[in-house]
Amino acid sequence: MSVQREFHTKWGMVIDLDKCTGCGACMVACQVENNIAPTPDASDMTRVLTWMLVYKLENKQKFPNYDVAYLPRPCMQCENPSCVPVCPVVATTKDEEGGIVSQIYPRCIGCRYCMAACPYHVRYFNWFDPQWPAGMEKTLTPFSSTRPRGVVEKCHFCHHRFMAAKEKARATGGEPMKLAEDAYIPACVEACPTGALIFGNLKDPTHQVAKLSHSKNAKRLLERLGGKPQVYYMSKRQWVLDMLDNDLGDGSHGGVTGGGNHG
Ligand code: SF4
Ligand code: SF4
Repeated sequence: MSVQREFHTKWGMVIDLDKCTGCGACMVACQVENNIAPTPDASDMTRVLTWMLVYKLENKQKFPNYDVAYLPRPCMQCENPSCVPVCPVVATTKDEEGGIVSQIYPRCIGCRYCMAACPYHVRYFNWFDPQWPAGMEKTLTPFSSTRPRGVVEKCHFCHHRFMAAKEKARATGGEPMKLAEDAYIPACVEACPTGALIFGNLKDPTHQVAKLSHSKNAKRLLERLGGKPQVYYMSKRQWVLDMLDNDLGDGSHGGVTGGGNHG
């Protein structure tokens, strides 16, 4: 069942894989901004919560032809999200003001249908009550709620920053539904030291993302599935673009490391 609808504003991201160094600053910024609790065993990839996760891609060639790329992976905020129609309690919806796929924690019953439906493995189940080791609770921010055990959570493009930007526009006589490019920026984009993450309204031709998403070097992850992600990847390296289809050309799938919370 398709839930695809057109909205006036479509927030999206373009990620330049030739600029990403795999430093992980986006992952750390996301954890702190969204009060994502550390799990008791961070090495248990079936239990960790990583709304933003940097994957390593390799071209599988030997030196001197060996090459590597790093792929930061937030929620794709699909235009046609497979996670939304499967939810039996409407705990996840497509936001009409920005095209962001929301998660309504108090409604979620933890059935995990949405996790099974998402082809990008971006949804995470809370196996534990959120707890911060002594001293680390000082990193908690007032911008985001914490989530209880038993519900699913995921990246929402720092939706609270969108709300704050709209409020600021209203208070200063601006137009909340026509925000400037720098009025709303998610934490990961702000933290990236190389400018590999670019954010904006894909429908506003004055925003960089609108232009970059149409570049010949831009492509979406697993396009053939029809989810129409609002996240685009860019690279001048053909092997990197090929890997976005998870297809190595010989019928095999691989070269990607990372992932978790789907055990
Ligand atoms: S886990 Fe929560 S959000 Fe996901 S389908 Fe079930 S009730 Fe809906
Ligand atoms: S990436 Fe997954 S969770 Fe995010 S909107 Fe698409 S299907 Fe839903």
